[in-house]
This record gives sequence, C-alpha cells and structure tokens, in this order.
Amino acid sequence: MELLDHGNKSDLRNPDTAILIQFVKTVTSITEMGEISRAGKAEGKRIALVPTMGFLHEGHLSLIRAARKAGDVLVVSIFVNPAQFGPAEDLDSYPRNLDRDLKLCAGEGTDIVFNPAGGDIYPEGYSTWVEETDLSRGLCGAARPGHFRGVTTVVLKLFNIVGPNIAFFGRKDYQQFKVIEKMVRDLDLPVEIVGLPTVREPDGLAMSSRNSYLSNRERKEALCLRRALLQAREMLAAGETSAAAVRREMEKLIGREPDARIDYLEFRDPETLKPRETLRPGDLAAGAVFINRIRLIDNLLL
Ligand code: AMP
Repeated sequence: MELLDHGNKSDLRNPDTAILIQFVKTVTSITEMGEISRAGKAEGKRIALVPTMGFLHEGHLSLIRAARKAGDVLVVSIFVNPAQFGPAEDLDSYPRNLDRDLKLCAGEGTDIVFNPAGGDIYPEGYSTWVEETDLSRGLCGAARPGHFRGVTTVVLKLFNIVGPNIAFFGRKDYQQFKVIEKMVRDLDLPVEIVGLPTVREPDGLAMSSRNSYLSNRERKEALCLRRALLQAREMLAAGETSAAAVRREMEKLIGREPDARIDYLEFRDPETLKPRETLRPGDLAAGAVFINRIRLIDNLLL
C-alpha cells in the first residue's frame, strides 16, 4: 500500500495497478486541528477520537475500527506524552514508527492523524495540570507517581483541541479508562467515552507497544501475569474468596519465572477501585509485572 499525505482525504483506484491507494491527512498544528474540527462540526459532522502513543498494534486498531463506525470524521492522535513518564522510565526508548502507523491508520479509513510536537503541547513555561484525585491513587498511580496527572492533562488537551463527540479507550489500561471517565463526569466534558476489551496475542498476552522490547525468552515469561490472573478467576470460581490467599498463589506462579518481578497484584471494586479483601465475581484483578526492566500490565474481571 502506498501512502501519500494529501490535503483532501480520499481513496482512489489507481487505474494502472488496480491497487487501492489510501490517503490520510497528517496534522501537526494545534490551530489547524482546531479549525478542521470546528469546520466539521459546523457541517453537523460527528467527530470520533482515538488517542494513542503510536507504534500501533491490533489493540489500537480495534479502537480505530470502532471509532470509524461511530463518527463521520475519524481522528487518531499519535503523541508520546512526556508528562506521563517518570524520570526513570522509558520515554526516550519508547518504540516509534510514524511511517508504519500512518499506513495502518490509512488502511482503517482514518481521516486525520493528529501528530503534534512535544513543544507545542507543552511549550516553554507550561504550568497547568489536571489531576483526578481518587481513582488515580492506587495501582499504577501508586507505582508511577505523576503518571495519571500526565494522562488526564494530555487527554483533556486533546479533547479541547480535537473537540470529539466520542473517544475510544482500551480496557487493557483499565484504571486509565476509569480515570478518564471520571474526569469527563467531574469536568462536564461534552464527550462520550467508550472502553473496549483488551486485544490479545493468540497465546493470551495482552498486546502492548512495549511487547516489542521483549526477547524470545522474556516473551515466554511475560505470559505469567495473564496466567496468574486466570488462576485468580479459577480460584474464585472454585470458592476461594480470600484475596490474600489468591494473591499468594499468584505470587508463586509468577515467582517461577526467573526474570519476573511483581510491581503490584491487586483486587479492586471495578467501579470505585477500592481494595477488596473478600472477592466477589466481577471484581477487578489487576497486575503489573516487570520482566527484567520491561513493565507490563494486565487485568481481568473475575
Ligand atoms: P497507548 O498507545 O499504549 O497509549 O494506547 C492507546 C490506547 O490503546 C489506550 O486507550 C489503550 O488502552 C489502548 N490499548 C493499548 N493496548 C491495547 C490492547 N491490547 N487492547 C485494547 N486496547 C489497547
């Protein structure tokens, strides 16, 4: 598939090759993105947004496909948001491949890829932050101080710039999805939030841009988190309701992998994210595990 940046997004059949050539408009300017969005809305068009950090995989594409159906103008943002990375985290090495991402977006019928520069989103002297102060406290919020402040800030900025009617998020980042839903409610933002299921590799590993860091050996070990979460579900189904007892078995399972280290394994109310000591069907089981230096997360509803 050939990709060309083109002012007016269109699909055409190349008469010589009969290959479908698809175009996706790339916008880097915040002002231009706002103008396009306002013009679309003035024509009564519904704008759908999928915020991403790029290095797209099937998980992202599932959101993009759903958004394509839900809106008249489909905007995919690609922005590796420095504000959600801690000082010792992988911002610099975070995988990037804009060319490939643009092709994938074009293939899914994306109208606009919004790819702003870091210095435009956070210009010199930037000093305003948005923070949700309840749901964002535990789990990844405890393990990654400042992470959700960075997420809510950038997502609110994207909402302000793009003005979507509807925006799509993955439940793979369950806490992030809940925090964004809460921000939207608390701040009366006029956008519908949709959370979609986790897309997995055939063996069950949750798809993640960070999976690309894994060596073959690490890739095999990485499955331990998914296995531990499934084990929790089985234990509850068999009648074990003690979170501590289930956690001990999960720790044993993960402990068998030489390169795995638990960051957290927790059971929470799926709506309030309050900790659970006695488990009930439908509770959230969520975990983060380091495989050597690579931090992977996953979750399931028991
Ligand atoms: P990221 O590029 O990692 O910031 O992710 C962008 C969006 O894609 C977020 O809403 C994620 O929750 C979602 N996402 C990432 N991985 C998956 C997956 N395996 N399945 C479904 N959604 C995903």
